[in-house]
Amino acid sequence: MKQWIALAALATLSMGSYAQAFPGSKPISIVVPFAAGGPTDRVARDLAEVMRKHIPGSNFVVENAAGAGGTIGATKVAKAAPDGHSLLLFHIGMAATPALYRKLGYKPLEDFEFLGMVNDVPMTLVGKPQLPANTYRDFENYIRANAGKLNIAHAGLGSASHICGLLWQTNMKTKEAMTTIPFGGTAPAMTALIGGQVDMMCDQTTNTTAQIEGGRIKAFAVTTAQPLSGHPVLKHYPSLQEMGMKGFNLTIWHGLYAPKGTPPAITKMLNDALKKSLKDPDFIKKNEALGALVVNDKRVEPEEHKKFVAAEMVKIKAAVDAAGKYAD
Ligand code: ASP
Repeated sequence: MKQWIALAALATLSMGSYAQAFPGSKPISIVVPFAAGGPTDRVARDLAEVMRKHIPGSNFVVENAAGAGGTIGATKVAKAAPDGHSLLLFHIGMAATPALYRKLGYKPLEDFEFLGMVNDVPMTLVGKPQLPANTYRDFENYIRANAGKLNIAHAGLGSASHICGLLWQTNMKTKEAMTTIPFGGTAPAMTALIGGQVDMMCDQTTNTTAQIEGGRIKAFAVTTAQPLSGHPVLKHYPSLQEMGMKGFNLTIWHGLYAPKGTPPAITKMLNDALKKSLKDPDFIKKNEALGALVVNDKRVEPEEHKKFVAAEMVKIKAAVDAAGKYAD
């Protein structure tokens, strides 16, 4: 009994001292598994700024580890020291990559501590400014008339843009109509789209809204079940469901993760800071301006977010298996 009390006291002490030492002078790095300047990078930078306020003495940095649909950055964090200084901001790819990559350097549900979900982000179907189409109908007709000649950009196999393009083409029944062009993130893909080097892309509103508003690209539809009628820019575009794709409803999400084994005192501190950040009016406003919705439900709790990701994994695996396309 005495021994048990001593052990319990030791455990409490070590949890407390970890918490005291954290964050210390070392920066907390949020790894974005995509290129700088893209949609996930944008969310990470806004999040780093607000999280810093809620962990006294902390210094957050954003690190881009792009490539292979996010799997390079995710593997890096899965293998990082579990000391709270390496975090991962990933999106739907966390659930999609195990379905697409049969050889993967991490197991989403086993190799990470889940810290909570951040936001829900709709997507938009966009095209280069030179496309002759101006409405979704014209766009579809143009694609059918030019089957085999067009290309669609994405941020690598397992990325949100890849999944969106895949689901959309499967629904349109024009699987073979386009060539896919992978990039390290949709930031470089967007530059190519604006420059007319690629024809189209399905990308997160956090990357497309400003470009649509500035008239640098064309937009044709949103991927949510309902049109985004409350948004000043995105309200002008129909949902794919309205355009006849029954049941099409794709919203991608972002979550925050730490390597497995990160001490509970630290994961609690990070989750507390995340929860406070998600209530921050400025962070909420920034998200809304880009069509994203900050999480305001139980998925901000680690266990609930984990359950949500597990369910997403099942859903996406079924879609990927139906499409029959794998990364390896
Ligand atoms: N989230 C990726 C990026 O930040 C894009 C994607 O997943 O499609 O570039």
